[in-house]
Amino acid sequence: MDFKKTTLKEIDVRNKTVLLRLDLNVPLYEGKILDDTRIKESLPTIEYLLKENAKIIILSHLGRINSYDDIKSDKYSLKIVYEVLKTLLPNVNISFSNANNEVDLKKAVKKINNGEILLLENTRYFNIDFKTHKLVNRETKPDYKLAKMFASLADVYINDAFATVHRNHASNALIAKFLPINAIGFLMEKELKNLSHILDKPKHPFVCIFGGGKVRDKIDVIYKALEKADKVFITGGLTYTFAKAMGLNVGNSKVENDLLSVAKDILKKDKKHKIVLAEDFIGCDEIADKKGIAVDIGSDEATGLYGLDIGPKTEAKYKKELEGAKTIFYNGPLGVTEFSNYQQGTKALFEILADLVNKGAEVIIGGGDSASAAINFGYKDKFTFISTGGGASMRYLEETTLHGLTYMDKKGLTPHISAGRSQVSKTVLMCGDPLRAK
Ligand code: AMP
Repeated sequence: MDFKKTTLKEIDVRNKTVLLRLDLNVPLYEGKILDDTRIKESLPTIEYLLKENAKIIILSHLGRINSYDDIKSDKYSLKIVYEVLKTLLPNVNISFSNANNEVDLKKAVKKINNGEILLLENTRYFNIDFKTHKLVNRETKPDYKLAKMFASLADVYINDAFATVHRNHASNALIAKFLPINAIGFLMEKELKNLSHILDKPKHPFVCIFGGGKVRDKIDVIYKALEKADKVFITGGLTYTFAKAMGLNVGNSKVENDLLSVAKDILKKDKKHKIVLAEDFIGCDEIADKKGIAVDIGSDEATGLYGLDIGPKTEAKYKKELEGAKTIFYNGPLGVTEFSNYQQGTKALFEILADLVNKGAEVIIGGGDSASAAINFGYKDKFTFISTGGGASMRYLEETTLHGLTYMDKKGLTPHISAGRSQVSKTVLMCGDPLRAK
């Protein structure tokens, strides 16, 4: 489906109170932020709003909140992001509030001035009833009243949370329904432009590479890739469920046994032999950061080993299979890249992909751990585009609904009249590049 969304520069945000939905859901490990890309990528929109002297209220989620203990532990508090924001914007007055009801939220908003920022606590805390401590999922269900309450805090809504755009949650999808003056932010615009430019009509040969930890997250996108791409690599931790489905010995490697039938179905549907599977892996007798050995998948030597990275035969196979590729979409590490002993496969793939970019290919790194790995391993500027959204970029490729855009203003079609407020901003009838999304 084609549609056009109003973009930030097309609406009047000067001196307005702006509710800004970002995706500040940064990867955390032992209380530390592993990769602050999403925070940094949000800065252009924040800085523009500051220049326009807007009062900025930032909303984001962090992690998953499934019980009151998740709140009590403070593990997913946005305070950790607040500290980073303060260092990135040292000259800006930034405050933080854990207000969790309309009265307190409005008080917190009133306290700050134009040209200042208020970061609100994790929107998913609203998944827990603050009185009974029961799981009510107001944010993720989503609850219209919660969205309406958020909307009542501001004049304008800006959605810049690309990495959450596939979710139908209150703070990223529904607010726009209640705040008719809305627009997408610069990051959302950049992501949609790049993904549509490269993926809507990919140059062929088009190769999709899916690694990472779980088959479960990638079933739909694998089916879709079999329709759209010329080759589909199933790699990383996904390898072993598929290899086992083919009756091969994978030792102790992680297999999603409940998905063996799905893997078999995918292999059966692959009539044109597009799927490329790994041939060997680097195995270890435990899941630990110690040196492993290369063994063939299906061999007796695989017995007792955990596959933690692709092996050298697979590396060579990938190089050959990728020769001449013109468009590549890649998501999910090839090994347990958290362990220094199991980064080689992913690094080798980055080398091959960077070489292909030099030869004119377009390479998208589809967010998540593979984007963090690309940045941490020094490949930040080597690819055509590194997306900030793993799930979101896969859903884009899948052509499923991007719920975060459903209620966003259609460019030029809605007069920007805010209910109950006096100001009427200009109706925008600009003809820019249409942003294509699904
Ligand atoms: P995902 O979120 O699905 O992209 O998965 C990322 C995770 O997959 C990372 O934490 C990696 O450690 C893990 N991973 C990648 N390859 C393997 C493998 N061969 N075995 C187990 N885990 C893996």
